[in-house]
Amino acid sequence: CGIVGYIGKREAYPILIKGLKRLEYRGYDSAGVAIISNNQQLNVYKTKGKVTDLENFVTQKDISGNIGIAHTRWATHGEPCSVNAHPHYSSSETLALIHNGIIENYAVLKEKLQAKGYTFKSNTDTEVLVQLIEYMKVTNHLDLLTAVQLALREVIGAYAIAVLEKDHPDEIIAARKSSPLVVGIGADEFFLASDATPIVEYTDKVVYLEDEEIAVIHRDKELKVVNLNNVEMTPEVTKVEMN
Ligand code: GLU
Repeated sequence: CGIVGYIGKREAYPILIKGLKRLEYRGYDSAGVAIISNNQQLNVYKTKGKVTDLENFVTQKDISGNIGIAHTRWATHGEPCSVNAHPHYSSSETLALIHNGIIENYAVLKEKLQAKGYTFKSNTDTEVLVQLIEYMKVTNHLDLLTAVQLALREVIGAYAIAVLEKDHPDEIIAARKSSPLVVGIGADEFFLASDATPIVEYTDKVVYLEDEEIAVIHRDKELKVVNLNNVEMTPEVTKVEMN
């Protein structure tokens, strides 16, 4: 029920964990993180339980890296357990995705993907989305943004998502419809969260994404916002009170 993301020069993990704790009030049953390490591994750690359980779980694991996404889950499809917790990998384990909301037509999409040879590890609606993005990407030789746009055009339901791609450690793609998502703009760094509470200690400049908007959050570029048809939108930067 919560999303946090970070890209910049600092270590992502402590910022992600702190952010998840700030979102705990929203309620959840599992938690997880995905971080691209400095040697370009896309590491996913997730567990049933509290954010502190996640912290215990990752001791002695590689949590290095300055790009990452984190999630607290309130299960809607599939029981609360570590396999169903987010982030979810795509089959090739080159993409990791977190999602809040419900993909209403996941069963139809899952059947189509299974017919193409895709296998599923979890019982979530969310895993269908990351596999669909991978499918679009691989079959049409697309970049991640275009694959996300095509996939989301097939989706019926509510979503706030963030996706990482192993070979692109400079970019987070995030999108929303009916579930909230906020981008925080810092100096040489960006934050992502379900609401501004995890962001306000770092920056007072935020962009509230609108329905069916996709944020392309690149480490060294200005925030770019496009819609599902790749029309560029002008992000409205709101000033919030910092604490
Ligand atoms: N529907 C997804 C699941 O059950 C996401 C739930 C959420 O919003 O946390 O995994």
